[in-house]
Amino acid sequence: MAEKDQVPKLEEILDKCCQGKPLSTPEITYLLGLKEGHKISQVFQTAQRIRARHFGNKIFLYGFVYFSTFCRNNCTFCSSRVSNKLARRYRKSEEEIVEAACLLAESGVHLIDLTMGEDPFYYRSENGFDSLLGLIQKVKRETHLPLMVSPGVVPKDVLAEFARAGVDWYACYQETHNRQLFVYLRPEQSYDSRLSSKVYAKQSGILIEEGIITGVGENLSDIVFSTEVIRTLEAQQARVMSFVPQIGTPMLDRKSPSRLRELMTIAVLRLLFPDRLIPASLDVDGLDLLQERLEAGANVITSLIPPRLGLSGVSQPSLGIDEGSRTVQGVASLLDQIGMAVATNQDYSQWVCAEKSALTRGSVNYEVVV
Ligand code: SF4
Repeated sequence: MAEKDQVPKLEEILDKCCQGKPLSTPEITYLLGLKEGHKISQVFQTAQRIRARHFGNKIFLYGFVYFSTFCRNNCTFCSSRVSNKLARRYRKSEEEIVEAACLLAESGVHLIDLTMGEDPFYYRSENGFDSLLGLIQKVKRETHLPLMVSPGVVPKDVLAEFARAGVDWYACYQETHNRQLFVYLRPEQSYDSRLSSKVYAKQSGILIEEGIITGVGENLSDIVFSTEVIRTLEAQQARVMSFVPQIGTPMLDRKSPSRLRELMTIAVLRLLFPDRLIPASLDVDGLDLLQERLEAGANVITSLIPPRLGLSGVSQPSLGIDEGSRTVQGVASLLDQIGMAVATNQDYSQWVCAEKSALTRGSVNYEVVV
């Protein structure tokens, strides 16, 4: 395609986005593959305009409590994989978890995300999920905040129990929707079970987050396909994160990718899903590039972690945590500088309530998704 033909094409595509019209697969692929700075800026500016239409200048903040780094799985990209002898393992007590959640709540986050590996302690057949449910109820009771859980793939009836215990969100990232790549990234795990757990969560009345990683061997078509799955799942939140190599894993020698792919994917997600939540994670680069992620169209900052409690991030076990930069205070001044603002708790709760009410009116067809 001649250069002179590309400019109107980009404008036409962005115009379609502004009018809420769907994009074709070649159009999405074209956006994701853009390399020229001025075109990328046009995409980001459109993503910001579309975000502003639905969320104004408000940004939501998520507190993150990674309470157990034990896991029965062996994902090739993850430090917590069971065979990693160099992993930093811990399992926080209920008191420690509640303390961390309360500190986050007091600091002003809008949601608490309780994350763990598929820890055999909680997955044991006797009373395992009961103790997790007890923990969830306690955190909910003490913080009065919307709650996300990221415990891995759990049985369908446990998802229903989560809903009854007050869980608002279930996050269970596929990381790729290329089945062959999934087998490499998540050996001996079921693609379909992971995907269907999100469908079951929605059927139980829980909002869902889907996610992908860039830089793990995917191509642009894989990302385009992921956007189709996210659309079919009707995920309320969709996140993309760049791969970060982890010590003690088979992917240690793979380079962390250029952040451009993640930023373009954030922007494309915003263009495709104007009123959905799209995170900018502090877990990849800390505060560095947070501004760029927000300027690409993200409207949630995730992985705020209270300092000095011995809690880890996932991709970046310690980056910025004890220094206090992954806190509400740490991000608020940046938001101010770029003309954005921290949303109120009421803003966020209203959004969650409206989405949960909408859930009861529609349902995802499992057969269509897989
Ligand atoms: S990505 Fe999740 S399931 Fe896989 S090893 Fe890490 S903690 Fe376990």
